Amino acid sequence: MIPFQDLSLTNKPIFRDLEEAAIRVIRSGRYINGEEARAFEKSLAQLCGARYCVAVSSGLDALRLIFKAYMEMGRLREGDEVIVPANTFIATFLAVTECGLKGVAAEVDETTFCLDFKRLPLSGKTRAIVAVHLYGNPCWDSETLERLHRKGILVIEDNAQALGAVAACTGFNGIRTTGSLGDAAAISFYPAKNVGALGDAGAVVTSDPELAELVRALANYGAKEKYQHEFCGANCRMDELQAAFLRIKLPHTHVTAHERSRRARLYDRLITHPEVIKPEIMENEAVQVWHQYVVRHPRRDLLREWLRSNGVATEIHYPVACHNQKCYAGNPLLAVPEGGLPTAEKLASEVLSLPIADVSDDEIAEISKIINNFEG
Ligand SMILES: *Cc1c(COP(=O)(O)O)cnc(C)c1O
Repeated sequence: MIPFQDLSLTNKPIFRDLEEAAIRVIRSGRYINGEEARAFEKSLAQLCGARYCVAVSSGLDALRLIFKAYMEMGRLREGDEVIVPANTFIATFLAVTECGLKGVAAEVDETTFCLDFKRLPLSGKTRAIVAVHLYGNPCWDSETLERLHRKGILVIEDNAQALGAVAACTGFNGIRTTGSLGDAAAISFYPAKNVGALGDAGAVVTSDPELAELVRALANYGAKEKYQHEFCGANCRMDELQAAFLRIKLPHTHVTAHERSRRARLYDRLITHPEVIKPEIMENEAVQVWHQYVVRHPRRDLLREWLRSNGVATEIHYPVACHNQKCYAGNPLLAVPEGGLPTAEKLASEVLSLPIADVSDDEIAEISKIINNFEG
């Protein structure tokens, strides 16, 4: 069986470094709020081209902290509308609705899989928009987003899947790297992400000093100073062990992306089945980091079963569009635009993620051949 991703294989080349880092932290006696996390924050801010970074406990917490901080700053209020692409991991919506904000599900583009900027469900109540760089594809349209930004609409990046990606056009700081395009970005280091911790971890990246300071306080029981609680915060800190592991993995970000990109191009050349739609390889200076390699087929479930019976494990990201998840049935905090979201729903029924994390060229050739022989 070719697995979808075997994390012990992913981390194998750096086992020794990880073990040494673990020993260093264990012996240091400092497990929270120490130098590992501070050093990691510096490197991550630099990688994204942002001024500030706050290391936190997960990608979901990073998103929640951004919304909470904007609420404390008075930039967002309960009931404000936040536009979120319907095809994303549920965390993007959960962060919005948990803060009492209204998630407005938006259509996606069937070639980029990201927000369709021509069909944004804008209204007089829109106060923020979340650009999700899905599958490692930069989701950006300077013209539209700068216009919204000038109107005071916040642009937040969900950069959980696209660390190291580059958009074809610049963001508000003149930077093209994801994580620095908008007002603030959330990053996830869930173990299966391109840069994964050995547990849960995440980060908030921004060039806004006020936002960074608030996020840090909110993630630390609402205190800037010990035992002085200005806000009703939470405990969302990244521990030193994860920070130490991530300091080892972060410098590999671009190498990992490059390897995945090479594999994507190999799939692109070898898959020739006329009914299988391959993902677009972006031009115009955009750099994708290929968190997933996602093909489409009208009879996706049959194709998936064909691959499974021939020894290839695949995944579906994601089988149910967020607005159709049970948790949002009848929930007034999630809105769907008039006319529904046909593209998002079609994609949910057609997408199939092929192994990309650790597969060899020979395995890619084998998987492609199995796909080309599919007669379902
Ligand atoms: C993984 C992911 C998250 C959540 O990150 P966690 O670290 O798992 O909490 C949020 N958004 C997207 C798009 C993701 O892929």
